[in-house]
Amino acid sequence: MISESDYAMLIGGARAGSADGTCAVVNPATGEAIAHVPDCSQAQLDEAVAAARAAFPAWSALLPEDRRVKLLAFAEAILAQEAPLARLLTQEQGKPLHEAEREVMGCAGWLKGVCALDLPDEVNEDSETRLSVTRRVPLGVVGAIVPWNFPLLLAMFKIGPALVTGNTMVLKPSPFTPLTTLRIAELSRGILPDGVLNVVCGEDRLGPLITAHPGIDKISFTGSTATGRRVMAASADTLKRVTLELGGNDAAIVLPDADVERIAPELFWAAFRNNGQICIATKRLYVHRSVYPRLKEALVAYAKTVRLGDGTEQGVGLGPLNNKPQFDRVRELIEDSRAQGYDVLFEAAGDVPDKGYFVPVTIIDNPPETARIVQEEQFGPVLPLLVYDDIEDAVARANASEYGLGCSIWGSDECAAAGIAARIQSGTVWINETQHLSPLASFGGWKQSGLGTEGGREGLVEYTVPRTIVLKRAEA
Ligand code: NAD
Repeated sequence: MISESDYAMLIGGARAGSADGTCAVVNPATGEAIAHVPDCSQAQLDEAVAAARAAFPAWSALLPEDRRVKLLAFAEAILAQEAPLARLLTQEQGKPLHEAEREVMGCAGWLKGVCALDLPDEVNEDSETRLSVTRRVPLGVVGAIVPWNFPLLLAMFKIGPALVTGNTMVLKPSPFTPLTTLRIAELSRGILPDGVLNVVCGEDRLGPLITAHPGIDKISFTGSTATGRRVMAASADTLKRVTLELGGNDAAIVLPDADVERIAPELFWAAFRNNGQICIATKRLYVHRSVYPRLKEALVAYAKTVRLGDGTEQGVGLGPLNNKPQFDRVRELIEDSRAQGYDVLFEAAGDVPDKGYFVPVTIIDNPPETARIVQEEQFGPVLPLLVYDDIEDAVARANASEYGLGCSIWGSDECAAAGIAARIQSGTVWINETQHLSPLASFGGWKQSGLGTEGGREGLVEYTVPRTIVLKRAEA
């Protein structure tokens, strides 16, 4: 057990311990508590918001290049702690160590990438009579709320663009995964000015305190669509800006000319990386009837090679689910598929650890389109494999979802695949790969998958307000 005093919140540049009790953090591979963290009180949240407000004038007045120097130093400080951070991430989140390393590197890399972006002034008019220029200026204090599937990367999706544009922040990690976020907050001390980045943690009740707080100007939220709706409603009273990155039910479409044996491992990881606990995981796999039997065989053959276990052990490809509610939900969805009599094509055999939240990889063979496992976001290691005959039908089924986050198209004819991609209603469509995100490209959801974007120039714009200055020139 790591002692409570190892983990403190960061408020105004100082460590802040518990005032209102603590929350236990459980290692999902064992089901046992590994640490306790402070449960932020209303007074501590008020302090954090006040610290962010106090830091805003000086931070926003810095030249963008001066802010970048500090943020790049923060990225280097994270990289220097890559190994301990990755180990801690595996302990609190469950993902295998190599995936945790990838996330830590990705978090620092994302910050560096954001620092390469710029929001130049726009000259609207430069005539004899008038000069009109629009500059994007920071909003003030951003409240950032993050889920448990990629605690560090998704926190950085918010920290990077908010801070580089001159905002300050109060950030809340998920109660299931606060540890690595508290660690990187600690690393920011002495690099970022006090109060620029504040990190508070606590149970779910802390989220509504943040969305209701009158001292916060914008909410940047990543999480489920159900919570996103609550966040938007709660933000209305104080007219906060919101960016919502929400759930998804991404389809992948495998065309008849796809090299299915070659892509089977990629499709496996598209669906099962991080146990399917990825907003842009492939959650429905539509396969043309002509290649369906071959793909089934290749997918099952590959699935048999992947080991389930504690993510800290060598050779483990899949760890546990992150938490008990998600473990129960995914098992209930699998049970529902069995109870409905759908064919289970594959269920990983072998040793399933008897402690912790382990669920073996499960593939359901061509359930009806109306099945819960097709219609709902499973966010777990169970995938429906679905047959189609006509590409029109596959596109219609891919689009027939309340979600519209991502989609992928797999085939040898790139032009044909691009034509199909152009008809998909989702924020991102990948061709012959999936889940590639870049700090230089905008990423966001369509329909119930979200509002606004993260990444790219548009992602920076979300943290600013346009201020237009119009000068009437003196007459000659
Ligand atoms: P969640 O909605 O339960 O929680 C997300 C965060 O919101 C947590 O920090 C939680 O404490 C907080 N929260 C809970 N109730 C709140 C409230 N009423 N007001 C404000 N904050 C509140 O989501 P989760 O289970 O942590 O994450 C899984 C979901 O997140 C999935 O649906 C997944 O698709 C989605 N997700 C989306 C993206 C994306 O970029 N679109 C990325 C990752 C995850």
